[in-house]
Amino acid sequence: MKKDFTPTLLDFGPLQIYLARHFGFCYGVENAIEIAFRTVEENPGKRIFLLSEMIHNPQVNADLQAHGVQFIQDNYGKQLISFDTLNADDIVIIPAFGTTLELEDKLNKIGIQTEKYDTTCPFVEKVWNRSEQIAKKNYTVIIHGKPKHEETRATFSHAAFSAPAVIVKDMAQAIELSKYIKGEKKPAKFYEEFKGQYSDDFSVTHDLQRIGVVNQTTMLASDTQAIADHLKQVMIEKYNLTPETVEERFADTRDTLCYATLENQQAVSGMLQTTADLAVVVGGYNSSNTSHLVELCEENLPTYFINSEEKIFSPKEILHYNFHTKEEIVTKNYLPEKKTVKILVTSGASCPDALVEGVIKKLASFFTDANNIDKLINQFE
Ligand code: SF4
Repeated sequence: MKKDFTPTLLDFGPLQIYLARHFGFCYGVENAIEIAFRTVEENPGKRIFLLSEMIHNPQVNADLQAHGVQFIQDNYGKQLISFDTLNADDIVIIPAFGTTLELEDKLNKIGIQTEKYDTTCPFVEKVWNRSEQIAKKNYTVIIHGKPKHEETRATFSHAAFSAPAVIVKDMAQAIELSKYIKGEKKPAKFYEEFKGQYSDDFSVTHDLQRIGVVNQTTMLASDTQAIADHLKQVMIEKYNLTPETVEERFADTRDTLCYATLENQQAVSGMLQTTADLAVVVGGYNSSNTSHLVELCEENLPTYFINSEEKIFSPKEILHYNFHTKEEIVTKNYLPEKKTVKILVTSGASCPDALVEGVIKKLASFFTDANNIDKLINQFE
């Protein structure tokens, strides 16, 4: 059945909010948060650690810290608490992105049972299973993902356990990788160009002859498809493959994006069919899936990426994140002065709905003739 991706209209009169049909929390995040809080509740007096941020949402992480949970690493793998200070009585929760086999092993050696408090999302595990299937058939695993992202690092570690593996972060890198496949670039350059993104003992001349592609669950669907199509075409041309023989060199891959990433992106495309003055995207600034929603919106209209309603200073000023330059900037006069202002609103998979509600209420408060906000919002509860 065709899914409906038309946005929901919240008509405040002079302000019209078009809310994406699908937005916000996904199964994996809800599940992880629930397990984390239950762990805190069931283990009074125990030291509870999170391997890294639970999800890419500052409010949820601050809430966990307020309950006494400590982070061992930041989300770039930087050590905040030394492993030497942990003991077998401690509880370490694995976040929704999963973790590397190396870290799991390290914790197990201390005597910490990681499987008991593992909140790895099943959709991330699905990617690991897919890599394993590819690896078993002797394909090299190409991972399309952000090389420093926890999920990609975890997927890379699992893939590299069974097969040669390389991470490509975007189409530009996929094109460079294809030059090594075609023999157009000197193999020695690969090790410098893809530093930190290939498995131990990777051989450029040997390990790029049979490949399969998986991806981080939160990438942009169109990029993921384009990269897989590009690499497949390169293999077809290099080895003169036909539709019947292509599987000899290129594993039959479908993307491994998760349902939430896909639905949130499709809902943004549906929302963008509505003509509006601006878009507001709510989510953590280091959230991969949220940044892709921003990317889709900003191709069409002025877009403001914020992580809380507090960033909307007034009807005249908004502090928002530019994820290309990785800095917050102030934009003045972001709200047009007109009879009816139309705003598209969505949020990423790690953003609590309460934040979106806060943003909508803040925006509506700037319009003196706006319809009753609570009454309108209650219709949808
Ligand atoms: S975004 Fe997808 S893969 Fe990540 S936690 Fe949510 S459901 Fe799981």
